[in-house]
Amino acid sequence: MKRVLVTGAAGFLGSHLCDRFIKEGYHVIGMDNLITGNLKNIEHLFKLEHFEFYHYDVSKFVHVPGKLDYILHFASPASPIDYLKIPIQTLKVGSLGTHNLLGLAKAKGACMLIASTSEVYGDPQVHPQPEDYWGNVNPVGPRGVYDEAKRFQEAMTMAYHTYHGVDTKIVRIFNTYGPRMRLNDGRVLPAFIGQALRGEDLTVFGDGSQTRSFCYVDDLVEGIYRLLLSDYHLPVNIGNPSEITIAQFAEEIIKLTGTNQKVTYKPLPADDPKQRQPDITLAKRILGWEPKVNRSEGLKITYDYFKGLSKEELYQSKHRFE
Ligand code: UDP
Repeated sequence: MKRVLVTGAAGFLGSHLCDRFIKEGYHVIGMDNLITGNLKNIEHLFKLEHFEFYHYDVSKFVHVPGKLDYILHFASPASPIDYLKIPIQTLKVGSLGTHNLLGLAKAKGACMLIASTSEVYGDPQVHPQPEDYWGNVNPVGPRGVYDEAKRFQEAMTMAYHTYHGVDTKIVRIFNTYGPRMRLNDGRVLPAFIGQALRGEDLTVFGDGSQTRSFCYVDDLVEGIYRLLLSDYHLPVNIGNPSEITIAQFAEEIIKLTGTNQKVTYKPLPADDPKQRQPDITLAKRILGWEPKVNRSEGLKITYDYFKGLSKEELYQSKHRFE
């Protein structure tokens, strides 16, 4: 039986990856320090013989007994509000955490896949973004702690690949959504849905003309799974190229929720990228992958998930670090 370690296992993406590897017949070892993760996301796995969980911070030396075939490093805060609240942890998990896990991969002869991000492109001046665009990142802005940690992470991963011969994979993840997103993580989709469910106005930052391209989580997981099993070592974009302005997205959420909420405009946060859309030519070619779930289907499933949350969860959803 293949054994896989998933860091950030109690988070949004980590928990969906655990589900997928269990379904594929792997022994899954989840690890999370639970700063932004939530055990509720993986509660259903604890009863399984082939799932185990370590409450641990990967920024410290990591030890896992027994053999390991794969390591997927998905531990990291992942929204601008989180970076502002816990900037040092964000830097550490992307840099020190990655170094520790690469060391573990080398020691175990495991293949390691790291979760990189479209944030390595910063506020991009090339549109859509192909993998060979080097980006436009402000290292000392509010997003710098995340963006630079992720850029360092890619460099460190490539160095372990070329110098130590570790089998590594790098996925650049674009905006992804689906069930188990944290209602209070500050990201636009849970923010809008939470506001609609509480009967509040939807807060659009700036004039809403900035664009994003949203990928449903199952599509992302499929792309990651294929990349892990491929023999490609350079970064690969995984995302849905269907691009939309944030103002249009607010209208879609209002329609989806059947509410009559109004939109209010707030100042645009510093260094908020004006446009973002993945060029997925490479993923199509080397992985035969492209997204299958369109936004209206994916949003419906996601909305049903948020509707199922308790009133308490809905109303205590102001940010956890406040
Ligand atoms: N955004 C917004 N209202 C909110 C939260 C976010 O208009 O309540 C905007 C944000 O400024 C950004 C876009 O939505 O332009 C996507 O934000 P998110 O934090 O989800 O992701 P990222 O900016 O990292 O792509």
